[in-house]
Amino acid sequence: MIFFGTKGRSIKIDSGKFHCPSCKVEKEYEKKYVQDWFTLYFIPVFPIGSKKNEHIECTECKDIYHLDVIDYQPAPDASAIESEYEKALKNVLCLMILADEEVDIAEIKMVSNIFENLTKNKKFSENQINKIIKNIKQENLTVDDYLKKVRPYLNDGHRELIIKAMYLVATADGHLDDKESELVMQTATVLEMTSAHVKGVLLELDNQNKN
Ligand SMILES: [Zn+2]
Repeated sequence: MIFFGTKGRSIKIDSGKFHCPSCKVEKEYEKKYVQDWFTLYFIPVFPIGSKKNEHIECTECKDIYHLDVIDYQPAPDASAIESEYEKALKNVLCLMILADEEVDIAEIKMVSNIFENLTKNKKFSENQINKIIKNIKQENLTVDDYLKKVRPYLNDGHRELIIKAMYLVATADGHLDDKESELVMQTATVLEMTSAHVKGVLLELDNQNKN
Protein backbone atom coordinates (compact mmCIF):
# COMPACT_ATOMS: atom_id res chain seq x y z
CA MET A 1 0.00 0.00 0.00
CA ILE A 2 1.29 3.47 -0.92
CA PHE A 3 0.70 6.27 1.56
CA PHE A 4 0.21 9.66 -0.02
CA GLY A 5 -1.43 12.90 1.04
CA THR A 6 -0.87 16.61 1.52
CA LYS A 7 0.72 18.67 4.23
CA GLY A 8 1.04 22.42 4.76
CA ARG A 9 4.63 23.65 4.99
CA SER A 10 5.84 27.05 6.19
CA ILE A 11 8.50 28.67 4.03
CA LYS A 12 10.62 31.62 5.15
CA ILE A 13 10.70 34.67 2.86
CA ASP A 14 12.05 37.43 5.05
CA SER A 15 13.29 38.25 8.54
CA GLY A 16 13.88 41.22 10.80
CA LYS A 17 13.29 42.56 14.28
CA PHE A 18 9.98 43.36 15.93
CA HIS A 19 8.47 43.90 19.34
CA CYS A 20 6.99 40.50 20.17
CA PRO A 21 3.73 40.96 22.15
CA SER A 22 4.31 37.60 23.79
CA CYS A 23 8.02 37.97 24.74
CA LYS A 24 7.32 41.67 25.49
CA VAL A 25 10.76 42.73 24.16
CA GLU A 26 12.42 43.13 20.76
CA LYS A 27 13.04 39.79 19.06
CA GLU A 28 13.94 38.39 15.65
CA TYR A 29 11.03 37.42 13.45
CA GLU A 30 10.68 35.32 10.33
CA LYS A 31 8.12 36.17 7.69
CA LYS A 32 6.71 33.01 6.18
CA TYR A 33 4.01 31.76 3.85
CA VAL A 34 2.27 28.41 3.84
CA GLN A 35 2.03 26.09 0.87
CA ASP A 36 0.46 22.64 0.53
CA TRP A 37 2.87 19.90 -0.52
CA PHE A 38 2.19 16.47 -1.97
CA THR A 39 3.55 13.83 0.43
CA LEU A 40 4.64 10.27 -0.19
CA TYR A 41 5.05 8.15 2.95
CA PHE A 42 4.58 11.42 4.89
CA ILE A 43 7.60 13.02 3.17
CA PRO A 44 6.86 16.25 1.24
CA VAL A 45 7.81 15.71 -2.41
CA PHE A 46 6.60 18.74 -4.37
CA PRO A 47 4.40 21.81 -3.83
CA ILE A 48 0.84 21.69 -5.15
CA GLY A 49 -0.95 24.71 -3.74
CA SER A 50 -0.62 28.45 -4.02
CA LYS A 51 1.55 30.45 -1.63
CA LYS A 52 -0.81 31.73 1.04
CA ASN A 53 -1.32 32.77 4.65
CA GLU A 54 1.69 35.06 5.02
CA HIS A 55 2.49 35.52 8.67
CA ILE A 56 5.12 36.59 11.20
CA GLU A 57 6.71 34.07 13.53
CA CYS A 58 8.78 35.01 16.59
CA THR A 59 12.01 32.99 16.50
CA GLU A 60 12.11 32.99 20.30
CA CYS A 61 8.64 31.97 21.51
CA LYS A 62 7.41 30.59 18.12
CA ASP A 63 4.12 32.48 18.44
CA ILE A 64 2.56 33.43 15.11
CA TYR A 65 0.96 36.76 14.26
CA HIS A 66 -0.67 38.57 11.40
CA LEU A 67 1.64 40.79 9.30
CA ASP A 68 0.48 43.99 11.00
CA VAL A 69 2.31 42.95 14.18
CA ILE A 70 5.49 44.44 12.63
CA ASP A 71 4.04 47.90 13.22
CA TYR A 72 3.02 47.04 16.76
CA GLN A 73 4.37 49.45 19.33
CA PRO A 74 3.48 48.70 22.93
CA ALA A 75 1.66 51.52 24.70
CA PRO A 76 0.90 51.45 28.42
CA ASP A 77 -2.84 51.77 27.91
CA ALA A 78 -3.16 49.55 24.83
CA SER A 79 -4.24 45.95 25.17
CA ALA A 80 -1.67 43.49 23.84
CA ILE A 81 -2.05 42.03 20.37
CA GLU A 82 -3.23 38.45 20.63
CA SER A 83 -1.31 35.70 18.90
CA GLU A 84 -3.22 33.64 16.37
CA TYR A 85 -2.94 30.73 18.78
CA GLU A 86 -4.68 32.59 21.61
CA LYS A 87 -7.51 33.56 19.28
CA ALA A 88 -7.78 29.97 18.04
CA LEU A 89 -7.80 28.56 21.55
CA LYS A 90 -10.61 30.92 22.60
CA ASN A 91 -12.69 30.01 19.57
CA VAL A 92 -12.17 26.27 19.96
CA LEU A 93 -13.13 26.41 23.64
CA CYS A 94 -16.33 28.27 22.76
CA LEU A 95 -17.07 25.83 19.96
CA MET A 96 -16.80 23.04 22.55
CA ILE A 97 -19.28 24.85 24.82
CA LEU A 98 -21.68 24.94 21.90
CA ALA A 99 -21.15 21.27 20.97
CA ASP A 100 -24.11 20.15 23.09
CA GLU A 101 -26.19 23.18 22.02
CA GLU A 102 -26.65 24.29 25.61
CA VAL A 103 -24.65 27.06 27.22
CA ASP A 104 -24.62 27.15 30.99
CA ILE A 105 -22.72 29.23 33.49
CA ALA A 106 -20.78 26.24 34.85
CA GLU A 107 -19.38 25.54 31.37
CA ILE A 108 -18.40 29.17 30.91
CA LYS A 109 -16.56 29.19 34.24
CA MET A 110 -14.81 25.93 33.36
CA VAL A 111 -13.67 27.24 29.97
CA SER A 112 -12.35 30.40 31.56
CA ASN A 113 -10.30 28.28 34.01
CA ILE A 114 -8.96 25.97 31.29
CA PHE A 115 -7.83 28.97 29.22
CA GLU A 116 -6.08 30.47 32.23
CA ASN A 117 -4.28 27.20 32.96
CA LEU A 118 -3.14 26.62 29.38
CA THR A 119 -1.91 30.18 28.82
CA LYS A 120 -0.19 30.62 32.18
CA ASN A 121 -2.75 32.96 33.74
CA LYS A 122 -4.13 34.94 30.81
CA LYS A 123 -7.76 35.94 31.35
CA PHE A 124 -10.79 34.88 29.33
CA SER A 125 -13.75 36.71 30.83
CA GLU A 126 -17.39 35.64 30.85
CA ASN A 127 -18.16 38.71 28.77
CA GLN A 128 -15.61 37.76 26.10
CA ILE A 129 -16.83 34.17 26.04
CA ASN A 130 -20.42 35.28 25.46
CA LYS A 131 -19.31 37.60 22.66
CA ILE A 132 -17.41 34.83 20.86
CA ILE A 133 -20.31 32.40 21.28
CA LYS A 134 -22.65 34.94 19.71
CA ASN A 135 -20.23 35.41 16.82
CA ILE A 136 -19.86 31.65 16.25
CA LYS A 137 -23.64 31.27 16.11
CA GLN A 138 -23.97 34.12 13.63
CA GLU A 139 -21.27 32.76 11.33
CA ASN A 140 -22.44 29.18 11.77
CA LEU A 141 -18.87 28.02 12.37
CA THR A 142 -17.96 24.37 12.92
CA VAL A 143 -14.78 23.16 14.65
CA ASP A 144 -13.54 21.64 11.35
CA ASP A 145 -14.10 24.71 9.20
CA TYR A 146 -12.62 26.99 11.78
CA LEU A 147 -9.45 24.96 12.35
CA LYS A 148 -8.81 24.52 8.63
CA LYS A 149 -8.79 28.30 8.38
CA VAL A 150 -6.38 28.89 11.28
CA ARG A 151 -4.22 25.76 10.90
CA PRO A 152 -1.38 27.57 9.09
CA TYR A 153 -0.95 29.88 12.07
CA LEU A 154 -0.53 27.10 14.62
CA ASN A 155 2.82 25.51 15.38
CA ASP A 156 3.18 21.94 16.73
CA GLY A 157 3.09 23.02 20.38
CA HIS A 158 -0.07 25.06 19.78
CA ARG A 159 -1.77 22.13 18.07
CA GLU A 160 -1.04 19.95 21.08
CA LEU A 161 -2.50 22.58 23.42
CA ILE A 162 -5.68 22.83 21.35
CA ILE A 163 -6.15 19.07 21.62
CA LYS A 164 -5.49 19.25 25.36
CA ALA A 165 -8.06 22.05 25.73
CA MET A 166 -10.70 20.03 23.87
CA TYR A 167 -9.96 16.98 25.97
CA LEU A 168 -10.20 18.96 29.21
CA VAL A 169 -13.60 20.37 28.24
CA ALA A 170 -14.85 16.97 27.09
CA THR A 171 -13.77 15.21 30.29
CA ALA A 172 -14.97 17.93 32.68
CA ASP A 173 -18.04 15.83 33.50
CA GLY A 174 -15.78 13.00 34.65
CA HIS A 175 -15.65 10.82 31.54
CA LEU A 176 -14.97 10.84 27.82
CA ASP A 177 -17.80 9.33 25.80
CA ASP A 178 -17.48 7.90 22.28
CA LYS A 179 -18.85 10.99 20.60
CA GLU A 180 -16.44 13.26 22.44
CA SER A 181 -13.40 11.10 21.74
CA GLU A 182 -14.43 10.96 18.06
CA LEU A 183 -14.54 14.78 17.97
CA VAL A 184 -11.06 15.02 19.53
CA MET A 185 -9.59 12.52 17.02
CA GLN A 186 -11.32 14.24 14.10
CA THR A 187 -9.88 17.58 15.18
CA ALA A 188 -6.43 16.02 15.39
CA THR A 189 -6.79 14.89 11.77
CA VAL A 190 -7.74 18.41 10.70
CA LEU A 191 -4.66 19.68 12.55
CA GLU A 192 -2.51 17.14 10.66
CA MET A 193 -1.53 15.26 13.80
CA THR A 194 -1.12 11.47 13.74
CA SER A 195 -3.26 9.39 16.11
CA ALA A 196 -0.07 8.16 17.85
CA HIS A 197 0.90 11.78 18.51
CA VAL A 198 -2.54 12.60 19.96
CA LYS A 199 -2.59 9.51 22.15
CA GLY A 200 0.81 10.55 23.54
CA VAL A 201 -0.48 14.05 24.31
CA LEU A 202 -3.60 12.73 26.06
CA LEU A 203 -1.64 10.14 28.03
CA GLU A 204 0.67 12.85 29.31
CA LEU A 205 -2.39 14.86 30.39
CA ASP A 206 -3.91 11.85 32.18
CA ASN A 207 -0.68 11.29 34.09
CA GLN A 208 -0.57 14.96 35.12
CA ASN A 209 -4.12 14.72 36.46
CA LYS A 210 -3.28 11.67 38.54
CA ASN A 211 -0.33 13.39 40.21
ZN1 LIG B 1 8.14 36.05 21.06
